[in-house]
Amino acid sequence: MVDHRVSSPDAGPDAKCSDDARLARSGTLSIPALLLDEIRRHGQSAYPEECCGLLVGQVEPSAKRVVALRRAANAREDSRHNRYTISPGELLQAEKAASESGLGVIGVYHSHPDHPARPSAFDQDHALPWYSYVILRVERGMPAELTSWTLREDRSGFDAETIETRKDPATGTGSSGRTRSTPAAVRSDTPADTGVREGD
Ligand SMILES: [Zn+2]
Repeated sequence: MVDHRVSSPDAGPDAKCSDDARLARSGTLSIPALLLDEIRRHGQSAYPEECCGLLVGQVEPSAKRVVALRRAANAREDSRHNRYTISPGELLQAEKAASESGLGVIGVYHSHPDHPARPSAFDQDHALPWYSYVILRVERGMPAELTSWTLREDRSGFDAETIETRKDPATGTGSSGRTRSTPAAVRSDTPADTGVREGD
């Protein structure tokens, strides 16, 4: 069984937050603060229904790096308050557009209206192991916590990803604007160790 949280055979349980490479192996999603705000706005405007969209970017050795979002329509006709579906056609279009810029679809975001930001059984049944799944809780219409997850290869569950917030604008793929800093906030209410790392 593969456990993505395992960083290396000799790493202690507390060691993985202290080393970039280990963080990357345990799962890091790097995303501009502007795009996190965009997800929050989308979730707020879709409330009380779920919003959904795609994370566009590239997978680098140190992190999955989001550089753009693509809003998607919730293709469901029922249960839109607790289900979302992105149509295959929309996904295909997004893949095509992203690849023209040398990028790809690297994940999906959606909101949980009045529900914790943790993957549901429905999410688990419909997830793919190579995507990141960002979930935003929207509580009474207001954006609340935001988490990111990856499905284990054996589909037995999700592992939390660290969210690394970047200050750079959501354009370009260069690394010049990349900064890492001491985490300003680390969530303790999530099942795994989802750290929300704020840039300064
Ligand atoms: Zn969900």
